Amino acid sequence: CGVAEEIFEDAGEQKVDLMEEDFTASLRIYGAGGMRERVFEVLDLMSELIYTLSSDSLEAVRETFTKHLSLRASLVDIDAEVGGCAACSRSLRSIDLEDSELVEMLEQIDGIARVGEKQAQAFDAFKGWLSRNGPHDVVVDGANVGFFNARPDQGDSLSYAQVHRVVQWFQQRNQKPLLVMHCRHFSDSAKMSGADREKVEMWKRQKILYSTPAKMNDDWFWLFAGVWATKQAKKGTHVYMVSNDQMRDHHFQMLSTRNFLKWRERHWVNFFFADKSHSSEPSFAMPSKHSIRTQRATPDRKDLWHFPSSDKVGQWLCCSQEGPPQ
Ligand SMILES: [Zn+2]
Repeated sequence: CGVAEEIFEDAGEQKVDLMEEDFTASLRIYGAGGMRERVFEVLDLMSELIYTLSSDSLEAVRETFTKHLSLRASLVDIDAEVGGCAACSRSLRSIDLEDSELVEMLEQIDGIARVGEKQAQAFDAFKGWLSRNGPHDVVVDGANVGFFNARPDQGDSLSYAQVHRVVQWFQQRNQKPLLVMHCRHFSDSAKMSGADREKVEMWKRQKILYSTPAKMNDDWFWLFAGVWATKQAKKGTHVYMVSNDQMRDHHFQMLSTRNFLKWRERHWVNFFFADKSHSSEPSFAMPSKHSIRTQRATPDRKDLWHFPSSDKVGQWLCCSQEGPPQ
């Protein structure tokens, strides 16, 4: 098992990105060797990096549990809104970041945004603005919303009206949005109608718009605002981050993968407009009530697990039934 151990040592220090196959290969090795503790260590590590598993991986896990560890495992459909598992009678969990992890993430984003003295000043100004006007319930990646359904390469411009409909949707539900957009979208040369300019003035009056400075990536601003709002949120309120950008860009890899994936799973919201018409209402894919990710069935038991399928939505492998395999 020397190689697998080395791989996991590296992964522990985040030197390499481990793939799903690396984990299942290790599970097979440790399982076949009867190394129970190692199997559970691999699962704990895997659960932080690989959220859903292919059918092949689920089969590898199932075999490890039943054949090698003499534990039960069975495929079951679970509705992540309801959470209950019919096989073990336990509920899926909602796994969010601890305060310390949120602080860690904020410090990290802050560090990345401060590439120079000017940028550091701009970011401090932003944080000051946030503490005066926040926290917000929903952070909206304005450019991502405004360019939805648009083809900038064919001369389409950002739709301020589309952004406004998203803002209104949340306001109508008593949720306070924060719109983060780069300053170039508000310059004198920006393609805006009179009605667009009126909307922008309204956003400014309502203190829900933050226009990010030139020569800085607006991504760090909305991500910081979203994580900060999560940190400030009172119990029972849920902070949302609206964007279809999956943040797979290389620069997001500077963030701690574990914290970022964890935050994204609980707070990310994808949006959709059926068409470009002025009356087209946005629709949203909110995070499910319970986390759709590989998880311990109860936090204090390393041997009881639920694994969601990446191939079949709603299908899970329940390895949380106590007693010998049937
Ligand atoms: Zn179960």
